[in-house]
Amino acid sequence: MTENELKLREELVAQYQRMGQLGLNELSSGNLSTRFGDNMLISGNGATSESIAVDTIVECSFDGDWEGPRKPSSEWRMHAAIYKQHEEVQAVVHTHSDYCVALASSLKPLPGFHYLVGVFGGSDVPCVPYSTFGSQSLANDAAAALTDRTACLLGNHGMIARGIHLKRAANTAYRLELMCRQYVLASQLGTPALLTDAEWEDFFAKAEENQYGKGI
Ligand SMILES: [Zn+2]
Repeated sequence: MTENELKLREELVAQYQRMGQLGLNELSSGNLSTRFGDNMLISGNGATSESIAVDTIVECSFDGDWEGPRKPSSEWRMHAAIYKQHEEVQAVVHTHSDYCVALASSLKPLPGFHYLVGVFGGSDVPCVPYSTFGSQSLANDAAAALTDRTACLLGNHGMIARGIHLKRAANTAYRLELMCRQYVLASQLGTPALLTDAEWEDFFAKAEENQYGKGI
């Protein structure tokens, strides 16, 4: 194993455990990957933040080929589709975090109720339709939704985020959980007001000026 591969595996373990500490991937309900040459390194099928280790991470091709005793996560197709369609993406994080699932269960996008929704790349965070876990249709829908957003909700399932490295993708997943939680709280007081088109225009102009969102 090269030093670079070891570093990537260690970072994947660290971010997987951090997601666990944040309560975002309880039991085996999440998976993380990072691009690795023409392949990816991905958490194994059934991984948990207690069991994840440098040598349980699986190298898997974008066609699902792997070697060794462990299978890749059952969601490898979703990760592969995102890497194939988006060259700049270096890491993908998928979770079933509570408030993302709460919103994704209504198959509605997270609307622009707060200006920080904009850091995902637009005035809302879309929710793709439900498809069976591990299916190619789920993979295709998620990869398409991540064209102009850094994250999306997955109908009746959870969320997925992309990033230029593992920590960035993990932070985006965490940010989306926070925003969904705040939206659920706000909704309990009535229908939250949404930013107007003009307010979004202003936000994105300001964000561009400040390189805002680049550090999440
Ligand atoms: Zn899942």
